[in-house]
Amino acid sequence: MKFLYTLAILLAFACTEAVKKSNEASAEVIGKKDTTRVEKYYHSHVNDSLQSTSLGSVSNGKLKNATLIPFKGENFEYFDASSYMGGRAFTNNKVAEITINTYQALLDQGIDRRFKVMEFSNKEGGKMFPHRTHQNGLSVDYMMPLQKEGVPYYELDEKGASHYLMDFNTEGLYTEDTTVSIDFNMAARHILELDKQAQKNGMCIQKVIFNTDLKDELYATEYGTKLKTSGIYITKNLSKVINDLHDDHYHVDFVNL
Ligand SMILES: [Zn+2]
Repeated sequence: MKFLYTLAILLAFACTEAVKKSNEASAEVIGKKDTTRVEKYYHSHVNDSLQSTSLGSVSNGKLKNATLIPFKGENFEYFDASSYMGGRAFTNNKVAEITINTYQALLDQGIDRRFKVMEFSNKEGGKMFPHRTHQNGLSVDYMMPLQKEGVPYYELDEKGASHYLMDFNTEGLYTEDTTVSIDFNMAARHILELDKQAQKNGMCIQKVIFNTDLKDELYATEYGTKLKTSGIYITKNLSKVINDLHDDHYHVDFVNL
């Protein structure tokens, strides 16, 4: 199932890219050219003047006046250039602010770590196959921070769309290299900061989809203890398919206060 999910994402990117390639002379996605294309794309799609409107629900909704998350900031980066250029990183402007302000706050707190964000929504919202939600610009997938021997580990952050395929065991160890593990304390700290920044923007976290087999490990950490008593809703029961998909990232839905 995980394979099909990632295949669907890859196909979705491929189709969008194919259309683009027929319209652009220099369609090579490599190195500096890629960076330039991404920057151009960002500047032609960012919306910093109009407020966004999220209509309907995360699983049946639309998005008006969307903005585009920057491809990168000082301590964060979007996970896949094809996904980005494929129009899958649009969001409500408040969710973009919350996401960016959270990374800035962690930086200001002296956290020396680079983070990755994964998929957001389409520019107009609506279905974004294969996600069931992500329809009204209020859903975000955040990449699970990893560590190796107690220090941040980034090598696997570069996998692009196939990152969604990664498998972790029920203790949060990467199955293909058990010296790599999820940094649960950092994940909890990030979620707490997201909610804090959301509240400054008149929103809060409505729901976090976090693999239920990993919740014990999450709550066992310093920030996990705070998260457990914070009132932030973290999913209690998930189908096996949904659970398996949420070990390499966690999904957050925001809502207006
Ligand atoms: Zn998601």
